[in-house]
Amino acid sequence: MSKITQFSTIGALMSGHLRGEAPLSHFCPAHGFGLGCSPEISGELTIHEGKVHEASAGEALHLVTAETLVPFLQVTEFSPQQTHRIVSVTQDTAYERLSQFIRPDNIFLAVTIVGVFDHLLLRRPQRAEGSQRSVDDVAASQREDSYKSISGRLIGFWTPELFGRVSVPGFHFHFLDDEARISGHVLEFEASEATLSFEEKTSIEIVNPASDAYRALSIDVGALDEMIHRIEK
Ligand SMILES: [Zn+2]
Repeated sequence: MSKITQFSTIGALMSGHLRGEAPLSHFCPAHGFGLGCSPEISGELTIHEGKVHEASAGEALHLVTAETLVPFLQVTEFSPQQTHRIVSVTQDTAYERLSQFIRPDNIFLAVTIVGVFDHLLLRRPQRAEGSQRSVDDVAASQREDSYKSISGRLIGFWTPELFGRVSVPGFHFHFLDDEARISGHVLEFEASEATLSFEEKTSIEIVNPASDAYRALSIDVGALDEMIHRIEK
C-alpha cells in the first residue's frame, strides 16, 4: 500500500482540537505502522506491527484498545523499498543521510531507523486531569527524558514542507525500544551506526473530523505555523 491514512491534521491538533473522534480500529491496518496521540494529548502513540503503544509521563508503556478514539493519527503499511546501513546519524544529519539515497523534499516517506542509540531524548505528555485542556497546558506539563545505549527503532514519516499544516514538516519520529517498555516523541537521537529503511508514499488520505466542535474551530494559520515548529519539532 503506497498510501498514508491520516485522521485530522497537525494544524487542527495544534489549534486545540484535542478530543478523540477516530476509532483506532477504523484506521489501523493489521500490521499498521505509524504514530499519533491520545485524547487531550494524554499520551504519544507509536504503532508497530499493528500494536498501538501509549507513552505518558510517569506511566509504564502500555497498549491501547482498538476502540480508543484518537484526535490525530497517521498510519500506513510499511514495506521498505530501500534499506541501508548508515553511520553517525542524529536529528541533524538524518536529512543528509536520507538524501544519499532519495530526494525527499517534495515527497512523503514512511521511515524507520533501527539500532542502538547512544543518546535519545524523548518527550511524553502528562495525562490530562480534566476532560479538556489547551495546547499550552499540554506543552507546559510534558516531560523530557534522555537515554543512553538504548536499542530500538524510530518509527515515523517524512513530510514535505509544502504539507506543513497537514503533518509535522520534515521528520516526525516516535521511538519504541526492543522490549516495548520505552516510547515517546523523539526530540534528539544519535547512533554511530544504524539501519535506515524507507518507503515512498505517493498518496495521503486525510479524514477530517466531522464534529460540530471541529466545524466551529477557529484556526489562525499564521500563528499555527510558528507553533508547529516550536512544539512538534
Ligand atoms: Zn510526535
